[in-house]
Amino acid sequence: MSHNGDNIFVCCRARPHNERERSARSTEVVRLRAENNSVEFEAEAGGQAPSKPISFDKVFDPEASQEEVFASVAVPVMQACLSGYNGTIFAYGQTGSGKTFTVMGPPGALKRSSSSLSKAHAVSAGGGGGGTKQAVEMARQESDGLLPRILWYVFDELDAAVASRNSATSTFTYECRCSYLEIYNEHIYDLTSANHTHGGHSSSHHHQPRSLNLRESTASGVHVEGIHELTVESAEQALAFVCRGNRSRHVSATNMNRTSSRSHSVFSLSIESREVTMADGLTKEKKSKFHLIDLAGSERIKHTKAVGAQVTEAKNINKSLSALGNVIKSLSDIGARGRQRHVP
Ligand code: ADP
Repeated sequence: MSHNGDNIFVCCRARPHNERERSARSTEVVRLRAENNSVEFEAEAGGQAPSKPISFDKVFDPEASQEEVFASVAVPVMQACLSGYNGTIFAYGQTGSGKTFTVMGPPGALKRSSSSLSKAHAVSAGGGGGGTKQAVEMARQESDGLLPRILWYVFDELDAAVASRNSATSTFTYECRCSYLEIYNEHIYDLTSANHTHGGHSSSHHHQPRSLNLRESTASGVHVEGIHELTVESAEQALAFVCRGNRSRHVSATNMNRTSSRSHSVFSLSIESREVTMADGLTKEKKSKFHLIDLAGSERIKHTKAVGAQVTEAKNINKSLSALGNVIKSLSDIGARGRQRHVP
């Protein structure tokens, strides 16, 4: 994925003040300058001079729409994935800064999107004449987050390719599979497998889910051994899968006495497409993986008043985030200087 020749693109978005902050007449401590893609911090009253502005590849206005964020952040990555390149989007920030809103949408939106297909079927079966496609379009909303928009985009593009490239002289087929996991205290848990805690059954209430191992092989590259992968045929099916994973993320968080913002979550979509041209018998195959990663909140790392298990938790979050920082730094060094460097 290349954005002006760079493989790494860093954006900054902060949510607007909420009702409570407005009524308390809170001052804006962070100024987002969308016009020159920089962020400034207000000087504290009586404190030091304002800090130097920090530059990003892109800074969004606090009023920026979900569509604008999708268009700048996700479309280039998804276009690359559809052309056979791997892509990843990370969401990083303090709890309450708007990560979930940006990635998933406001509370309840994902569930509505995932059920829009069954509703759409009901509409078309009701003889309204509107048709399935139209009903699905209607279910899409302004406030929808990155994930539903990404899935709609991918399936719309793939379905369009099927419609236009299947002819007497060529065939186009695709397969998409998804998985959803979380990393907590350096352990990997499958959010959608049957042996994950789903709650509801009192007997399994305090049952700890089994953690999985990361492996590397020539055939499958780096992969999580034994993770449940679901073949999905529509965006709605993938969204229903994510909703199921979010429910068990919530349940396991409750069981382990933490909030879900203390773990990292990874949604992965693998896209494979194949185009066969009859005349020359040539097969064009494209394979890529997309990851959408919601990182644990960063807030407790600096203010560690934590004790016991919370210290381990904070240390592990800190450790994984600094490891990630090192990887990204060496990857961007390669991009900037065009020479090989060890990527940890
Ligand atoms: P995080 O996932 O980083 O902890 P949330 O996404 O839950 O934060 O956001 C905190 C609150 O702010 C939620 O009530 C959310 O709906 C609201 N919010 C976040 N971003 C926006 C935005 N861009 N516009 C309006 N409300 C937002």
